[in-house]
Amino acid sequence: MGIKDPAVVVHKKKTISALSVWIFICGLSLGFILGTLLPGYLPGIRKNSATGAFRTQYSNKDANGNFGITANETPAAETYDVEAELLKVPLGSEEQYLKWMLQNTNEEEEFLVARWQLSRDFVATGELKGDSNIAAVLRTPREKFVREANINRAYQDTWLPIGYGATITDPDVVAMMTTSLDVKPEHRVLEIGTGSGYQSAILSNLSNHVYSIEIIEPLFYETARLQKELANDYPSYRHIAKKLGDGFYGWEKYAPFDRIIVTCSIDHLPPPLIRQLADDGIMIIPLGPPGKQFIMEVKKSTDENGNIVLKRRDVYNGLSVKFIPFRDDSGEGYSN
Ligand code: SAH
Repeated sequence: MGIKDPAVVVHKKKTISALSVWIFICGLSLGFILGTLLPGYLPGIRKNSATGAFRTQYSNKDANGNFGITANETPAAETYDVEAELLKVPLGSEEQYLKWMLQNTNEEEEFLVARWQLSRDFVATGELKGDSNIAAVLRTPREKFVREANINRAYQDTWLPIGYGATITDPDVVAMMTTSLDVKPEHRVLEIGTGSGYQSAILSNLSNHVYSIEIIEPLFYETARLQKELANDYPSYRHIAKKLGDGFYGWEKYAPFDRIIVTCSIDHLPPPLIRQLADDGIMIIPLGPPGKQFIMEVKKSTDENGNIVLKRRDVYNGLSVKFIPFRDDSGEGYSN
């Protein structure tokens, strides 16, 4: 039976239009949630803290949407020969350096010029010393390890945010820590705090045996993915073994290490790291209370009675630097 009463018809029409309005509002809200909030929680898509834009450039998914890295530990490939590779790059003049890099890499001249200039500044301040260290810095593209929004600041002498509350360390501090670490090709080198992967990339030019531990899970996968991708152009990155975990306990499996570099701050020397440092080994570590650290070089030796002796030197001679805190699995810091 058809509806005849006009009052009923009008009433029905009103009901339908109110429903449409609700559906419309719900649709809008859902669209907002899916489009703006949710991507921040999906792997491989995250919000850039500086611009608020979502980026996928360094996502840990490959072009087919598969995770390239699934293991929480990546082994090192032992196929690279740092000695044969490193000093191929000419260090004599900017012109020779640019010419060689443009012929042998896919890098952009603008970044190469900026990198050359910055390395000269650090040589002048004494923070960067020794041909191997200079060559390692000159061959490592910092622009590939900073976030997209900061690419134009890649060669400013400053730390930059890389998400998850972590930072890529200031390039002068990286130069100074690398120089103090005094790495030789045969050394086993352990880094605590992979972060962006920039420091371990530099180290991979200096030693064939680099190990790096990161505690923040998404950052670990993101950097593992990035270094895997970059290894096509920079084969040395292939021999950086990486582990997701708490670096306080070191990496027993590969100990002892000739060199240990800690890139997060703590107010005491982690005993497991001292134990895993080889005799005559060197550890570089930012020590001090939160917000104010001194970069210490710790040399380990054994005296005639078999006692372990630790000799410390303040690398920056009293100058304090601020580092990201050394934290445990629960997110708490190790410093008191
Ligand atoms: N070397 C990095 C600097 C990263 S900042 C680079 O070249 O970019 C310090 C890093 O230490 C952060 O990524 C932080 O998550 C990490 N970190 C803090 N506590 C840690 C721990 N217990 N074990 C391993 N990494 C830790």
